[in-house]
Amino acid sequence: MNIWELDALELGKRIKDREIGVAEAADALLDRIEATDGEVNAYVSTFRQEAAARAQQVQKMVDAGEGKGPLFGVPVSVKDNICVKGMTTTCGSRMLYNFRPPYNATVTDCLDKAGAVIVGKLNMDEFAMGSTTETSYMGVCKNPWDTSRVPGGSSGGAAAAVAASEAFYALGTDTGGSIRQPASFCGVTGIKPTYGTVSRYGVVAYASSLDQVGTLGRDAATVAASLDIITAKDAKDSTSVAHPDGGFYESLSGDIKGMRIGLPTDYFGEGLDPQVKEKVLAAAKQLEQLGAHVEEFPMPIVEYVVPAYYIISCAEASSNLSRYDGVKYGFRAEHYEDLYDLYLKSRSQGFGMEVKRRIMLGNFVLSSGYYDAYYNKALKVRALIKKAFDEAFQKYDMLLGPVAPTTALKIGENLDDPLKMYLGDIYTVSVNLAGLPGLSAPCGFDGQGLPVGMQLIGPAFGEKRLLNAAYAYQQVTDFHQKKPQ
Ligand code: GLN
Repeated sequence: MNIWELDALELGKRIKDREIGVAEAADALLDRIEATDGEVNAYVSTFRQEAAARAQQVQKMVDAGEGKGPLFGVPVSVKDNICVKGMTTTCGSRMLYNFRPPYNATVTDCLDKAGAVIVGKLNMDEFAMGSTTETSYMGVCKNPWDTSRVPGGSSGGAAAAVAASEAFYALGTDTGGSIRQPASFCGVTGIKPTYGTVSRYGVVAYASSLDQVGTLGRDAATVAASLDIITAKDAKDSTSVAHPDGGFYESLSGDIKGMRIGLPTDYFGEGLDPQVKEKVLAAAKQLEQLGAHVEEFPMPIVEYVVPAYYIISCAEASSNLSRYDGVKYGFRAEHYEDLYDLYLKSRSQGFGMEVKRRIMLGNFVLSSGYYDAYYNKALKVRALIKKAFDEAFQKYDMLLGPVAPTTALKIGENLDDPLKMYLGDIYTVSVNLAGLPGLSAPCGFDGQGLPVGMQLIGPAFGEKRLLNAAYAYQQVTDFHQKKPQ
């Protein structure tokens, strides 16, 4: 078996037992990326030299018996909106095509501490705005299960890389579904943790009250082990909170007897592809056989989540993205007449269509005549969404539903119809609006052989339950082990 075909945790074990060298593992993965990424385009950049130097250091720690944690020495790949000192962080945008951060994101420091070797940066929708990875300035990323289809987004590169065995595990970000939805489209497992439990310091902001870093891997065990690495309170992020739990990987038991799972009926109504529905309901049955109590309940608020999300996320984005002015860093227009013209041309040429649309929408909903009608109203809806979840979690330990209404779309299918694309986020955005943890795990394939994912949603700090339920499910199913040709 090739090294790149190993599971992340198996590789971690062999590195620890010194059957495989750290440099050998990084090299094998980089060779794999070189051989296959021409077709997939999951990576924006790779770092062979830096990875080799880093691997040597990590190997010394392994040799000295200082390697801690099940993923010590295992190569990792990170989404290109996470700062890695000295390495370009493009955020999928022309605006940052040449940006080399002089510092690490806190999650990057966490990876370093855990003995990870970063091998490259992953493709994404421009500024994480999108659901297909088609808006990337670095070119469309393709779904390894069918390269005429999108991998989902915005962490499409992360999900595609894991699916194509071009990454053992990856860090992504999720503002409205960007880890869970691509995980679902690519047949891998991904988690968006409770807001605040993973630092956002050094992560390029899209919508700060919704953005959260999380992890993707082949299975729940890998995702749990990698979440252990990045979960930490951070003084550099004022929204950071300490997670009362931890030891996600150690706590996986596979026992979910008596677990109460709620199925929101409004997540299974009109607009949901019947094949997706069938697979998610089959997963519910499977969890029931494992000892969980599954029950349907109404959650009518779902009708309002997409407009509330797009108003709030665009409002925050319009403010966050005002820092890109062509002066301090990033792209600057070549010809301009005065300062105003420099701003105008740099922003016009540096940002893509979707980003501009959202900046305009955000400025509109925040403008004095419309603030109350749109922004304030969206904040009220957000409070109602939070309340609906609070009520649900008085009765249930977790909720189960689909991740997305369909399986992976054809490339180009939704590009000209932003509203249709936004509606595809209906099952994921409320988790971010309420600050909750959400997990996506493979639960079958549709008639065209495309992966279907299920979503587990927990109360704040409920990561352990979600990971354990997915782990239990993966002990008796093998969807997560299937790989594209
Ligand atoms: N698809 C959603 C959007 O375009 C979510 C993106 C994300 O989570 N970064 O806003």
